[in-house]
Amino acid sequence: MKIVTTIKEIKAILKQERRGDKTIGLVPTMGCFHEGHLALMRRAKEECDVTVTSIFVNPTQFGPSEDFEAYPRDLKSDSKMAEKVGVDYLFAPSVEEMYPEENLTHVNVEKITDVLCGACRIGHFQGVATVVSKLFNMVNPDFAYFGEKDYQQLMVVKRMAKDLNFDLQVVGVSTVREEDGLAMSSRNRYLSSEERKAALVLSKSLRLASEMVENGEKNPGEIRESMIRLIKKEPLVNLEYLSICDTISLRELTIIKREALIALAARVGKARLIDNILIKGN
Ligand code: AMP
Repeated sequence: MKIVTTIKEIKAILKQERRGDKTIGLVPTMGCFHEGHLALMRRAKEECDVTVTSIFVNPTQFGPSEDFEAYPRDLKSDSKMAEKVGVDYLFAPSVEEMYPEENLTHVNVEKITDVLCGACRIGHFQGVATVVSKLFNMVNPDFAYFGEKDYQQLMVVKRMAKDLNFDLQVVGVSTVREEDGLAMSSRNRYLSSEERKAALVLSKSLRLASEMVENGEKNPGEIRESMIRLIKKEPLVNLEYLSICDTISLRELTIIKREALIALAARVGKARLIDNILIKGN
């Protein structure tokens, strides 16, 4: 695996690879790898000839009071893990390389960014859409892999790629969880052991919701109430939002028909955690 830090070099390398008619898969990340990230890389390896993983903690997607400075960074361990999975190129540019001067151009996906995390994290998805489109232009992948754990992000990137005619396919990969159900996240390392235990209520509440739907419950109000009742049993968990919404428009549902997304965000100690479950019709 080769580590590349400049845009010029990654472009030159991939231009050469493309000459051999090879397909390129991109896995954009902020590093600090766990099994969730590795699942995306493995999928890219399976489906593409060349796998590129990018690591960039993108300052423009963090709000002024968020954890940009504190966000965990560990290039040494990340590169070992990525190499083991068989990633071909690890693209890890600096902030100066990505933003050499003030960025005057932004990509803004409307409507689906007004809700869920977008309502709490103003400017976050503009930062994401802008940096992802920059990465798409640098790597020019055939396939780009994103986790369903960040479902809204996946939908924003899919819509951006469609609206802006990026010539690639955005692939969603299922959420990887710890054995006890906690969704894997780089931010889980902010949790104390007590907070880690309390945080389990989030995935538990999503499982409860899915059981209720399986048992025929169609009323989002009932499901929301039961979930909130359960989550309130953990005083260390502060729910930021809980949404039962359409899987495409991300607008709240008044009745669950075929499909639904149940998504939540919560603060647990220093960590802001998100999780979701997709209810799929048959
Ligand atoms: P991050 O480094 O947290 O920005 O995540 C990079 C990519 O990995 C994003 O597409 C995430 O959705 C995905 N990802 C993060 N955690 C998980 C997980 N537990 N399961 C699946 N994908 C994940």
